[in-house]
Amino acid sequence: MEINYKDKLPDTLVRELKENQELCPDCEGRGFNVDEDGIIICRRCRDGIIKKCGYCGEEIKSICSCKESQEERILKKKEDATKRPLGYLVENQLLGFDPFGKTYLPVQDIRLATSDWVFATKAQTLDLDAYTIFEDACHHLHESVWDSINGEDIDGLQKHLDKFIERFQNHKTYYPDETIWIPIKGE
Ligand SMILES: [Zn+2]
Ligand SMILES: [Zn+2]
Repeated sequence: MEINYKDKLPDTLVRELKENQELCPDCEGRGFNVDEDGIIICRRCRDGIIKKCGYCGEEIKSICSCKESQEERILKKKEDATKRPLGYLVENQLLGFDPFGKTYLPVQDIRLATSDWVFATKAQTLDLDAYTIFEDACHHLHESVWDSINGEDIDGLQKHLDKFIERFQNHKTYYPDETIWIPIKGE
């Protein structure tokens, strides 16, 4: 059976181009190409349109990895974040995170940051939960094991675990907290 699809295609298409958008050079804005096998969806574009980075001009699928584009995303996150004074880091014994230099800075070295502000951080310490440990350990065992573990067993183990947790209190792992930004100069 032969189907004449060419008659079904419109003669012209209207493409609205937004900022930093261009017609795809591979399909000339159609979104597809026609060859002897029929209609082939264009792999390079979406609906005939390609997107370019507003900073470096590179063709991009979603976000660009160039410096300017990364900086714009950092500043956007700062806009959405809450401002706190430097004392926030001191009170909570946290490091500052310099998003441009991608470095963690203790309060006394905070002025080494690339710009005049930093993000706060979150600190994670060793976390050992008796209930979770029992639960994980019993996961592949017969239900009778889990059923016979009682609250005293869990409390007893937790007491031991708390001693470990106490010992490793000062071993903190820091993560950037992009919900809080902190000015470091002049304020
Ligand atoms: Zn295309
Ligand atoms: Zn770019």
